[in-house]
Amino acid sequence: MIRELTKDRDVLTTKCSRATAADAEVAQDLLDTLASIDDCGCLAANQIGVTKSIIAYKDDKDETHVMYNPRIMMGLGASKVVEGCLTYDEESTVVRYAKVKVAYESLVDGELRSKRADLAGWVGEMVQHMIDHCNGRLV
Ligand SMILES: [Zn+2]
Repeated sequence: MIRELTKDRDVLTTKCSRATAADAEVAQDLLDTLASIDDCGCLAANQIGVTKSIIAYKDDKDETHVMYNPRIMMGLGASKVVEGCLTYDEESTVVRYAKVKVAYESLVDGELRSKRADLAGWVGEMVQHMIDHCNGRLV
């Protein structure tokens, strides 16, 4: 189901709670909403008003991915970048890594399984931005 984006600061600055397999519907709403917005590469669940740690993003081949409970394990090559945000009106300067190792969970056959991903470049930056959202941090 496509949901409306929220700019509610109270929602966006709340640290998201751990997502479980029971949150599959939230993940689906996230995918539906992401697909409904032109030029939108990523969304976190709290941007559609649900404070659960789930993110969705499109990679450079335009394939969509969902991560439950993502966190950065390691980052290389920190630099300052200017980022905008769909649900926050001002641009901000933030520190991002050129490469990150991310631990997350993926829903497989109704169960969450631990996974890891090595991400770099634009996709890595989006996922770092999304993980900030999960932690209730606006850029
Ligand atoms: Zn954002």
